[in-house]
Amino acid sequence: MNISTLAKLLRKTIPQLREIAQEHGIPGFQGRNTRIPYNSAIAITKILAPERLEKLKDDDKIYLPPSLTVAELAEAIGKPPGIVVKTLIMNGVMATLNEKIDYDTAYLISQELGVEVYPETKEEEAVSTTTTIVNLEKVFNTKTGTNLVKRPPVVTVMGHVDHGKTTLLDTIRKTNVVATEAGAITQHVSSYKIEYKGQPITFIDTPGHEAFTAMRARGTQLADFIILMVSAVEGPKPQTIEVIERAKISKTPVIVALNKIDLPNADVEKAKADIAKFGLVPEEWGGDTPFIPISAKNNINIDKLLDTVLLLADLANLLGCMDQPGQAVVVESYIDNHIGVVTKILVTRYKLKVGDFVSCGPVAGKIRTIKDTEGRSQAEASLCDPVEITGLPEIVNTGDLLTVHDTQKAAQMAADMEKAKRNFKRTYIYKQEPNSGDINLFLKADVNGSLEALKESILKIPQEEVRLKIVGEGIGKVSEADVEFANVTKATILAFHTDVLPKAAEILSKLKVNLIQSSIIYELLEWVEEQLLKNKKRQTKIEVLGKAEVLAKFKSDKPGIQIFGGEVKWGKILDNKELRVIRNGQDLGRLEIVELQRNKVKVKEINIAQQFGVSVKGKVKVEAGDFVECIDEIVLE
Ligand code: GDP
Repeated sequence: MNISTLAKLLRKTIPQLREIAQEHGIPGFQGRNTRIPYNSAIAITKILAPERLEKLKDDDKIYLPPSLTVAELAEAIGKPPGIVVKTLIMNGVMATLNEKIDYDTAYLISQELGVEVYPETKEEEAVSTTTTIVNLEKVFNTKTGTNLVKRPPVVTVMGHVDHGKTTLLDTIRKTNVVATEAGAITQHVSSYKIEYKGQPITFIDTPGHEAFTAMRARGTQLADFIILMVSAVEGPKPQTIEVIERAKISKTPVIVALNKIDLPNADVEKAKADIAKFGLVPEEWGGDTPFIPISAKNNINIDKLLDTVLLLADLANLLGCMDQPGQAVVVESYIDNHIGVVTKILVTRYKLKVGDFVSCGPVAGKIRTIKDTEGRSQAEASLCDPVEITGLPEIVNTGDLLTVHDTQKAAQMAADMEKAKRNFKRTYIYKQEPNSGDINLFLKADVNGSLEALKESILKIPQEEVRLKIVGEGIGKVSEADVEFANVTKATILAFHTDVLPKAAEILSKLKVNLIQSSIIYELLEWVEEQLLKNKKRQTKIEVLGKAEVLAKFKSDKPGIQIFGGEVKWGKILDNKELRVIRNGQDLGRLEIVELQRNKVKVKEINIAQQFGVSVKGKVKVEAGDFVECIDEIVLE
């Protein structure tokens, strides 16, 4: 407990407390120590104000804000600042005393120093900056910024394949973007800014890897609104429903575009009713979702669709922040064979210029070129501009934040800090070999899309002797309940792109539950594959400890339990081993011993020539005249 809190509680000054402690020989108050050991705090409270003992217990928790300087952390956890800096450095975070670190880093460092800390805000709000769940308020700095301005809406178009997404984006672009020679009409561009009725609207494409649903999920959250394309001929399809589900999770408003109304078999009313079943109720039916019948191909009602976007944007009062430094969020990053790493970004604060030093997640660089999505070079990009930049040395993740820094050194430092933090998190694994046999998994991910992607990929891993069993799954941070569930189901928690709540981390190590946490799907899959191999290679040797003859079978009133009596012919039968049933020299399978009895008394072992009764669990049906062998299975490394 912090000495100043204790002093306040006991209504003494700090020097007075130190003096009283010394008089009574209570340790922990000497020197400049500001963190008093719990037992010492109790001891002095018992002397000075025993009636406040209960209060002391409540006050003992250390609460930390979402960000604090290294010096403040040292003070809060009562450790010498030098030790805190050293621990940070040992974990690759080069921070000085006045450097700000976030709660997650502070939490991990405190854990390493053996001090429990708790987030000052509600646990859910202590969001890590490394997680790439894109939270619009955070990305646009509207909660923290001072210089707020009206900004254009950011829209993404989603929907089932062939329902007209590309056609809509092309039609909007052709009609609203001033085409130049460079912006050849045939070029397919799906992130762009248009001007409609004098007002800008930004369209961003979700990352293109169809297989990687998780990234598309992030795309959803980058946008203020989703235009959900549904063919009025076919109605909602699996991907339509997936988008609806995701929009619900990310609380992103949806505008439904009922497409292909030019076709004779289009049935707008039926499509509406079918979509309403999934919770998107048309405005005209009393719901709050706009449904616009359109033809993307024939440019019918596209103006109505864009009017709706502007109307919703007006109602939402979308704000952006013009405080420096400039910032952007990564939409996609890829390697172009000619120009190297290209990063598609959306500017989310102030502006970026060619020549700016930037950090982007764990990498640092200098912006070499900025191009608008039509391929035209720009000197700078402003709030809500979707642009492509070069100058980053490596590919970065969708959702990573790019920040401008004054100097190259500062950019490098921010990147190093982020890198160290991510590596640090990745080593935040409680490893323990899973039991031989099946591998039980409990999946946890940030959003439904990530969860689905992880599940799909896991189910694709070939399984032979060893089976993978998904015993549970969930969205959000790993909670106490998850850990408890994983504990009873003997499952390993795979946490994809999500964090562990502090309380859950606490019981993880206590219960020795296995947790593998990563923001990279392949790392998780690699781990699973490794375990499969390990378990497969694990050879076992069976040792027979004794053999008994089954003399009689008795009636059991418990379902699934068999009871029989027998006599040990050689060796012994132990209650914590398995029985192998042998009939006419054939191995029929194994039974688990529930209880072993001799003369109706529960015993641990039965020796040669002794008779016994036993209740067992298992599929094999025992008969009088069978033999049972008591076996011990030894795993050979
Ligand atoms: P995406 O897979 O969602 O991007 O769908 P596309 O935009 O590629 O469209 C799939 C097919 O539907 C293409 O052959 C389009 O020409 C056609 N299509 C798109 N919109 C319309 C429309 O409004 N009317 C008609 N008749 N066809 C359309």
